[in-house]
Amino acid sequence: MEEKYVIFKDDDAGKDFPRLKKWVDVVLSNDAKGAIGLIGKYIKDPALSDYINSLDPAKIEIFCHGYSHSYVPFILRRFIGRNRILPLEFDRDIDSHNGSLKRYSTLESKYLNTKAISFGPPGNEWNNSVVDALVNNDFKIMFSWSKLSGNIFTIPLSGNLKQNSIEEFTKDYEKNKEDPIFTLQFHHADLTNEQFDLIAEVIDYLKKDEKRIFVTPSELLGISQENDEIMSVMTTMKK
Ligand SMILES: [Zn+2]
Repeated sequence: MEEKYVIFKDDDAGKDFPRLKKWVDVVLSNDAKGAIGLIGKYIKDPALSDYINSLDPAKIEIFCHGYSHSYVPFILRRFIGRNRILPLEFDRDIDSHNGSLKRYSTLESKYLNTKAISFGPPGNEWNNSVVDALVNNDFKIMFSWSKLSGNIFTIPLSGNLKQNSIEEFTKDYEKNKEDPIFTLQFHHADLTNEQFDLIAEVIDYLKKDEKRIFVTPSELLGISQENDEIMSVMTTMKK
């Protein structure tokens, strides 16, 4: 039997520090791993950068979640039309995308001990020039719900933690049971206390019942070099 993997992806690090720590604590105390998406403009906050630097990158790996994280919520876009008032950070042109990634990387290299190789676009909104900008800026992996074209590895997103009980979770998870990579997305700032409690149960279920192995994005990229099935998932969307 092929190994099955799981990645926990948590967005918006920098917006809500206490809840970020709470999320990381739950993951680490249950012997799991995770990837946290840093919003560039918050990196210079010393409390945040000291905290990130104190984490073991083999267990909690950072990824780039944009610099400004400006995007228009879906519901609002339906009324005002895409891009008319506030352009999405990664639905502009290649120069703007390069600029955002460089602003992120400049702060990252100044304040942090580690360098992100993965990118998760704010609001999961992006256009094709983003992939070129990622390659230009030495990123290797992008999280995505949809098809990618370009020279970058993909970690496909599988679902969001929005359930309130382990029964609801396992029911939704049914559709992903056979997936070699299961990527669960979180927004720590929006989780209820019940959902924070649920995380431990989900970890236990994925490890014990599903025999999934927790990995970080760079660990998965390493595994793909020797595992054809994982390689094909990470590159199927690559044209
Ligand atoms: Zn976000």
